[in-house]
Amino acid sequence: MKFNEVLENVTTYEAGKPIELVVREYGIDPKDIIKLASNENPYGTSPKVTAKVQELAKNMFVYPDDSMYELKEALGKKFDVDSSNVIIGSGSDQILEFCVHAKCEKDSKLLMAKTTFAMYEIYGKQTGSKIIKTDSDTHNLEEFKALYKEHGADIIFLCLPNNPLGEALDTKDVYKFLEEVSSDTLVVVDGAYNEYASFKDENKRIVPKDLITKFPNCIYLGTFSKAYALGGMRVGYGIAQADIIKTLYKLRAPFNITTLTLAAAIEALKDEEFVSTCIAKNFEEMKRYEEYSKSKGFEYIPSYTNFITIKMGDKFVSKEVAQKLLERGVIVRDLTGYGVNAIRITIGTNEQNTRVFKILDEVLSALER
Ligand SMILES: *Cc1c(COP(=O)(O)O)cnc(C)c1O
Repeated sequence: MKFNEVLENVTTYEAGKPIELVVREYGIDPKDIIKLASNENPYGTSPKVTAKVQELAKNMFVYPDDSMYELKEALGKKFDVDSSNVIIGSGSDQILEFCVHAKCEKDSKLLMAKTTFAMYEIYGKQTGSKIIKTDSDTHNLEEFKALYKEHGADIIFLCLPNNPLGEALDTKDVYKFLEEVSSDTLVVVDGAYNEYASFKDENKRIVPKDLITKFPNCIYLGTFSKAYALGGMRVGYGIAQADIIKTLYKLRAPFNITTLTLAAAIEALKDEEFVSTCIAKNFEEMKRYEEYSKSKGFEYIPSYTNFITIKMGDKFVSKEVAQKLLERGVIVRDLTGYGVNAIRITIGTNEQNTRVFKILDEVLSALER
């Protein structure tokens, strides 16, 4: 059958492996599996959110409030913007998709870092767009500037902080770069880990209102999947000037968020204390990964997120390390597919990390030649 020919260039996204798969393939008891491959909040969902979802489970025969009034109001309040500046998606992924499909067609241009969130390229290719990437793995604004001067771009993606490498930029440098960008170019600032970066270093905080006021061609994306611990509920949001939001709405299917998801997100915003506690623990535990890496002579990328990317150097092959860990019930992300010999590990709980170090020790000695 003949399909849209642009799809011939599209690869499918490879998600972090689910616990179910490890149970099936390696016969490991689910309680012994440590899933640190998808940057979920390892502390689980706030008990208040869980209680709310349980309470409302009886309502799931009713379509959700398609205006999403309450959640948009809550986000509007949190970010000091009007609800006309907010759009809700099934994960911020869906808003990324809206952005690309709103702006791009065949031969449009997308500019992004060499090693960044895979979905930017996938959505881009769905429209037949050309993908332009910097040479450096991590975000280098000088390279972005030079490539933008040379090629222009319909969309620029800035992943701040960046997944899968974990680096972040100073907001003042980002703003300096944005001053050079035409008002015709949509700039997507993906803030999936902004809560983490803001906690670690105030200079890296992105304030959505500030961003879209200074640069009306920008859209800020946030998600409930990481710090807010709702990855399984699929909810994220975009914040932009109302004309951009209105356009994105044309691509949205009705009821793109479930009744329970809406309730969970609204409730999660009421429990910010839970979120900040988790973020504080995250960076405490991250120190242990830094120490561990140093003790093994591994280089790591200083991270502003809830994961750490550890380079395997020339002694180990990341793919093998990740596979051996998997066989022992520890799911991490191998970055070979991104062209980097490194593994990305989500920072787990204290007990999980202790076990990871022990198992990693064993795996590394077994692989050492
Ligand atoms: C996790 C993530 C997202 C979005 O996740 P959703 O679950 O779709 O909200 C977006 N960008 C980056 C960089 C991410 O890591």
